[in-house]
Amino acid sequence: MENVKHKIEQLRETLRYHSNRYYNDDAPEIEDYEYDMMMRELQSLEEQYPEYDTPDSPTKKVGGKADNSFESVVHSVRMESLQDAFSKEELYDFESRVLSAVSSPKYCVEPKIDGLSVSLEYENGVFVRGSTRGDGNVGEDVSANIKVIRNVPLKLNKPIPFIEVRGEVYMPKKSFERVVDRQLLNNEKPFKNPRNAAAGSLRQKDSAVAATRGLDIFVFNIQQTDGVTLQSHKESLDFLKELGFNTVPGYTLVNSMEEAIAEIERIGEKRGELKFDIDGAVIKVDDFEMRTELGSTSKFPKWAVAFKYPPEEKQTEILDIEIAVGRTGVLTPTAVLEPVHLAGTTVSRATLHNSDFIKEKGIAIGDIVTVRKAGDIIPEVLCVNEHKSDTVYEYPEHCPSCGSPVVRENGEAAIRCINPDCPAQLLRNLIHFCSRDAMDIEGLGSAILETFVQNGLIEKTEDIYLLTYEKIENAALEGFKEKSINNIINSIAHSKKNDLGKLIFALGIRHIGAKAGSLLANHFKTMDSVMEATIEDILQIDGFGEIMAQSVFDFFQNEKSKQLVKSLEESGVNMNSLHVVSDTRFAGKTFVLTGTLPTLKRAEASKIIESLGGKTSSSVSKKTSYVLAGEEAGSKLDKANALGIEIINEEKFMEMIK
Ligand code: NAD
Repeated sequence: MENVKHKIEQLRETLRYHSNRYYNDDAPEIEDYEYDMMMRELQSLEEQYPEYDTPDSPTKKVGGKADNSFESVVHSVRMESLQDAFSKEELYDFESRVLSAVSSPKYCVEPKIDGLSVSLEYENGVFVRGSTRGDGNVGEDVSANIKVIRNVPLKLNKPIPFIEVRGEVYMPKKSFERVVDRQLLNNEKPFKNPRNAAAGSLRQKDSAVAATRGLDIFVFNIQQTDGVTLQSHKESLDFLKELGFNTVPGYTLVNSMEEAIAEIERIGEKRGELKFDIDGAVIKVDDFEMRTELGSTSKFPKWAVAFKYPPEEKQTEILDIEIAVGRTGVLTPTAVLEPVHLAGTTVSRATLHNSDFIKEKGIAIGDIVTVRKAGDIIPEVLCVNEHKSDTVYEYPEHCPSCGSPVVRENGEAAIRCINPDCPAQLLRNLIHFCSRDAMDIEGLGSAILETFVQNGLIEKTEDIYLLTYEKIENAALEGFKEKSINNIINSIAHSKKNDLGKLIFALGIRHIGAKAGSLLANHFKTMDSVMEATIEDILQIDGFGEIMAQSVFDFFQNEKSKQLVKSLEESGVNMNSLHVVSDTRFAGKTFVLTGTLPTLKRAEASKIIESLGGKTSSSVSKKTSYVLAGEEAGSKLDKANALGIEIINEEKFMEMIK
């Protein structure tokens, strides 16, 4: 018995740890399926040994807890979770429980979007607040980030007095790929999957960053409303559509569990073709009266069940191992596979992680391996089932791109090529340099850059600005006609006028993203000043820490970097900040806005502050200069009072900006 008690405690502790990594840090360490199976084990032990069951067990809790860096929102209608099912038997068990309380229910079957749950509130048809689910009772106010999501209407088609809806914020697969590419280019740790990317983006402190993440939403429920009566789920989805919401796509009304299961199978087969990730399908009793009859447990409604598609694993043969060189020089191994059908897509490549993984598993070309693909985008090799030879794949000692010897830096798992002129890195650097947030040279996409590098038209980044019509024409490349050559030349010429911030970002300095690039430009105004800045000078910029400052400093100490900047300048590339603020009365001042202002919208007030050289922040700290407070200002006001920060109202603010 002591053993059982110990096992239960151990499971609870492990589940709490992973729940925290998933919900609060947006950085899970294990697959959802592993987590769900552990939860199942705990559930079954608690049922078997009720004497060890406790109300605070993870089996009774919903989600994570609200982060106190956002204002708390108490949900007046609890945001419940869903009971899950992994087999047809479990779906029929669900049906029996439903049929013991109601008769002949219709079910609505919908894809289960793999994102995070939010509540949106509207008064008189106008968006007033958006919040996360949190623990189901208390969530976080993330209104600023919700407002920048593409399909969140700020005004409804009908001005109904009040409505709270629930939806799933998600990151489409395309946005996820773009975000991860950008993270890799900036040497940031990439998000593990679109769900974590969506959660991490929605809980950003800066809504301008959230706005760049391409988030979207599907709304699937009315939590509460005034002045409208609805009878069923289907009716409510139609009504939500009428109001202007993007409702959950591809839902079907069915009359039996058999039909529901057929629908689940259909959704599962089409899963790979969808533009977003799903982690299952939800079956819901359609009729609202029946739902009331069925009720809820402490964690989920008894009228719905989520069928989770288990991660798919298949065995296949490794046909080849390819080593790619990233922009930062890291060599990454990919297995080329005999194609297999997995989780709705055909998989012919899977990651082998790094050289240690290959060595540890003893992997070689020709081996039969198990490949797994969960909802995640990148399939992975899990283990070897059959070794075809005694040898293990030998990791290259030389860079497959430039032939220079590779190195393993102290203690790192990564093996790198450190030749700065390595063509593989050159191409990635060029793609980054020309990308939209950097120099935005539309005519030079990755395919054209690759052609130019292969044909010797570009050997170094600075060669972009030495390209001429004649040079491209003389290279006699297929598909390059007068019009396309002119487009390239024009977009290169156009990019010379870019702001200094874009140029700094384009240089690909480690740890310096687009925002940091423009902060450097705004602060130092000229490239010369940035290049001459000491670490202490750079640390003066709000938002810059030691690592970023050191990285900028080191970059400009390097002779190659100096030469690059010199050559760009000689080609006529702008080296100055274009953001000239003529009236800088708020320079160095940080404002926090809270509550509803009598006449000004918050966005308008923020714009005014920024146009006068000031900054806005979402949280009050010692660095705050003023708190601009309107009606119903919440905890930010208390914090400002506690820290002795000056609180101003709109009238005073208007005086200050006169
Ligand atoms: P859940 O994700 O299984 O189901 C509930 C959620 O589904 C709701 O919050 C809702 O927002 C969402 N949903 C999406 N589409 C929907 C639709 N059409 N209709 C209704 N709801 C819809 O439950 P949960 O409590 O949010 O989280 C548990 C999940 O999180 C499990 O899948 C678990 O594996 C995962 N998790 C993983 C780890 C890990 O370490 N990998 C840790 C904790 C939790």
